[in-house]
Amino acid sequence: MTTLVSSSRSVPAADDIYSRRESNVRSYCRSFPALFTTARGSFLHDEQGLAYLDFLAGAGALNYGHNHPRLKRALVEYVLSDGVTHGLDFHTEAKTAFLDAFERQVLVPRRLPYVVQFTGPTGTNAVEAALKIARRVTGRTGVFSYMGGYHGHSLGGLAATANREHRAAAGLSLHDTTFLPFPGSCGAIDTHAYLRLILADGHSGIEVPAAIIVETVQAEGGVMIAPTPWLQELRAICDEHGIVLIVDEIQTGCGRTGPFFSFERAGIVPDVVTVSKSISGLGMPMALTLIKRELDAWKPAEHTGTFRGHQLAFVTATEALSIFEDDQLTARTAEHACRIASFLETNVHPLDSRITSRGIGLIWGIDLAAIDPTGTFAKRVSARCFAERLIIERVGRNDTVLKILPPLTITLSELEEGLRRIATALASCLTERLHTAA
Ligand code: PMP
Repeated sequence: MTTLVSSSRSVPAADDIYSRRESNVRSYCRSFPALFTTARGSFLHDEQGLAYLDFLAGAGALNYGHNHPRLKRALVEYVLSDGVTHGLDFHTEAKTAFLDAFERQVLVPRRLPYVVQFTGPTGTNAVEAALKIARRVTGRTGVFSYMGGYHGHSLGGLAATANREHRAAAGLSLHDTTFLPFPGSCGAIDTHAYLRLILADGHSGIEVPAAIIVETVQAEGGVMIAPTPWLQELRAICDEHGIVLIVDEIQTGCGRTGPFFSFERAGIVPDVVTVSKSISGLGMPMALTLIKRELDAWKPAEHTGTFRGHQLAFVTATEALSIFEDDQLTARTAEHACRIASFLETNVHPLDSRITSRGIGLIWGIDLAAIDPTGTFAKRVSARCFAERLIIERVGRNDTVLKILPPLTITLSELEEGLRRIATALASCLTERLHTAA
């Protein structure tokens, strides 16, 4: 295990190259102001050699941890053998190997009837393609999305993303999306009764949509978990009305909630699935839109792009699928989830009765909204964790929820160490708050 050295952390000076030359839009680096040099497994290291436990894991792009030795080896061997590094959408050895592995290890065992569309390499690219194909096959324009939903920042994905601040940045009106309440986050509303009402009532003023896009666990939305029967009923409603059900697996896929796809727990088969983040394993950009064969109405080259499928990402993605099986990540994730649940119950909830938590697999939220709905307290706790060299991000309304998102490959002792740091940071921030209020 990496040694943890205690010393002050490096903070880029105000006149550094980032302040001088990088756009103001930069984001994560503001919460975690270190200069990182190397990374391995569950740790990032800064220029002083300090090790930071990573409970953000590339926002879900690093389910296999940093620089997994098998992924590195596969990549280096491929590069050294002069494998094709850029191939548009040519047939290449790397792409063949990935598609074969994806078919054999993911699609066939789950009897999933998808063709694979390689989109531009980010999550929002996969969402754009999903929305476009749904509109194409139904001839409708509307999309239903959920309050708290996050689907990316290109215009199609952004139109289906709920956060007002993000939407405002579009600079134009974002059309054709109706937001529905998500279970658990909007009080006692019967969300499906409302959905059925909108669809059935000719006086609802809302057209039947082309698609409903949903995350089975809203990650950026605050770790809100859709109940299994709710997902099953959503599948049934989409079937009744000929609506394309798009499940966004960009953050929850690749084993994050346990099974390879998060929708597996509900036993449903979405019509379209978006996959990105951890699919390449090593954190390289890659995205897929999985489309039921009968919905694959694209004409050749109708939705194209230069970087649809990065050959190096194919190489690591193929290896990552084997690691997923060999390391039995589904079973390990279930064990880790139990450990997190019991730790929170024993060590975090007793700190303050207003703290709640929820999670599944290796995505958990510690909700601090009842302590401070403005998010200031959660921000303070995250900053305190960072001072203790734990990287943990905030999500949900006003960023009031601490999101635990470690690599799936994390060891039990690393996981426990990270949880201890959260509990310590929370305890000291609560004490401080008490004294400030007094
Ligand atoms: N959908 C979901 C569920 C996501 O979590 C994200 C990224 N946080 C996206 C879409 C967008 O992915 P990207 O940032 O790669 O465009």
